[in-house]
Amino acid sequence: MKKFLSTLLAAVMVMGLLTACGGSDASGNETQDATAPEAKEEAAPEAQEEAEPVEEGAEQESADADAAASEVLADGVLTVGTNAEFPPFEYVDDNGEPDGFDIALIKAIGEKLGVTVEVENMEFEALVSAIGSKIDLAIAGMTVTDERQASVDFSNPYYDALQYVIVPEGSEIASFDDLAGKNIGVQLGTTGDFIASDDVEGANVSQYNKGVDAVNDLLNGRVDCVIIDKNPAQVFETQFSGQIKALDGAQFGFEVENYAIALPKGDAALAQQVNKALEEIKADGTFDQLVADYIG
Ligand code: GLN
Repeated sequence: MKKFLSTLLAAVMVMGLLTACGGSDASGNETQDATAPEAKEEAAPEAQEEAEPVEEGAEQESADADAAASEVLADGVLTVGTNAEFPPFEYVDDNGEPDGFDIALIKAIGEKLGVTVEVENMEFEALVSAIGSKIDLAIAGMTVTDERQASVDFSNPYYDALQYVIVPEGSEIASFDDLAGKNIGVQLGTTGDFIASDDVEGANVSQYNKGVDAVNDLLNGRVDCVIIDKNPAQVFETQFSGQIKALDGAQFGFEVENYAIALPKGDAALAQQVNKALEEIKADGTFDQLVADYIG
């Protein structure tokens, strides 16, 4: 294994060197642009030596990055955290196993990376802090937010989302202002929770670990509405059809959100590998097939 790695490393370095030479011959500007500040400082006295120290630095960086990636994936197992209470992205299937769009997506990514995916079902709130200890990464219809980015990195976004408002049939709630002072059900620690708790004037917010519990309290009148992501809202609307309605968040002025995979902070190599796998899955049609299978 080690021998293979060092051979590979040598090959990569040779290729890097070739690319570097080709790059500066064919389009010196491009090569220099990527590393411009260092290049200028180091090579100020003699312009000719410009490329060399910089290219070495770049090679070193990518070698380090490869080493870091192999650490998370080295045991051949990718431990993935989710909260299987968020259909159609994740739910527990009839056999008691986590399933859903996100689960299928991360398994496809695992396949591209050559690792086995093991899913840990936990509370949504616990996911971010578990990354790097209990789990390697998290996929859970998780919206990219500045707050979360303080403790984790995110993959490239893979799905657009929006908060929706579920109301009982016949409710008069129809705009953001109508939410003021209402009893609002949310999933604890979600973007719906942040809107209700931080933005809505005088709201009385009930936080649940499961979206379906919030919906149950909507059905029995304990809350006036539930703020939750569009797709789960539509699943619940279908499940309890005739009793509740899922209202488009656009009419409440909610902003579009992006789902992405939460990754350990600073592991650029892992992020790169996950993003590459994601790109391949999009390019080869797997992604669209999963959308058709799970989201429709
Ligand atoms: N998209 C929301 C968030 O990231 C909800 C995610 C979820 O409940 N699984 O906060």
